[in-house]
Amino acid sequence: MSHAPCPLCGQSDTEPYHADALRSYHCCSRCGFVHVPSPFHLSAEAERGEYDRHHNAVGDPGYRRFLGRLATPLAERVPPPATGLDFGCGPGPALAAMLREAGYTVAVFDPFYAPQNAVLATGYDFITATEVVEHLARPGAELRRLVGLLRSGGRLGIMTKLVIDRERFSGWHYIRDPTHIGFFSRATFAWWAAAEGLGLEFVDDDVIFLRRLPA
Ligand SMILES: [Zn+2]
Repeated sequence: MSHAPCPLCGQSDTEPYHADALRSYHCCSRCGFVHVPSPFHLSAEAERGEYDRHHNAVGDPGYRRFLGRLATPLAERVPPPATGLDFGCGPGPALAAMLREAGYTVAVFDPFYAPQNAVLATGYDFITATEVVEHLARPGAELRRLVGLLRSGGRLGIMTKLVIDRERFSGWHYIRDPTHIGFFSRATFAWWAAAEGLGLEFVDDDVIFLRRLPA
C-alpha cells in the first residue's frame, strides 16, 4: 500500500522501487519519476547545512568545465545577448558569472542564498537549473512555474543525472546524497515534455533542454 503520490505528475499510484538503509524510493507507474517520500526529506535547516558544506568556487576551473557542458550548448541555441535566470544558483553563483562574462544578462534565484521573489515575475529567454531538480520536493509545480517564466521559444536548461534502470539505481552514488529526493529518466522527461506541450532535447548524458514552443 503506497500513499506517496508522484510529485511530478500527481498520479497517486507509485510503486516501491528501491530501499536502502536510510530511505525508500518510489516509482510512478505513469511518468516513471522516482522519488523519495516526504517523511525521509531533510528539514530545511539540515538541507541548508548540506549545501553550505558543498560550496563550489566561482573561479574553480574544474567546476567551470562541468558547467560548460550546459553553457556551451545553451550559447548555440540562445546566443548572447539574451536575458536569463539561474534558478537554484547556490552559495557561489558560478554559472551566472560565466554567462555574464559571455554577454548575457542574468538574474539569480535560490531559496536559501538568493531568495528574491521579484526575479520570478519577469520573462526570460532562458532559464538554467544545474543540479537543482533532484532537490525539489514539488518538481511538477516548480518546473511548470519556471517554464511559465520563459518567453515564447525560450529554453529551460537542466543538468541532473538520469536514472538508467533499477539495477544501476541500487548501486548509484547519486542517491547517497540525502538532499537528492527526485530522479528523472529520459522517458520521464519525454513524458513530462509531451504532457506540458514542450520541446525536448537531450544534449549530453545529464544535460536536458526544454523549449517553450511558440503558440
Ligand atoms: Zn508521475
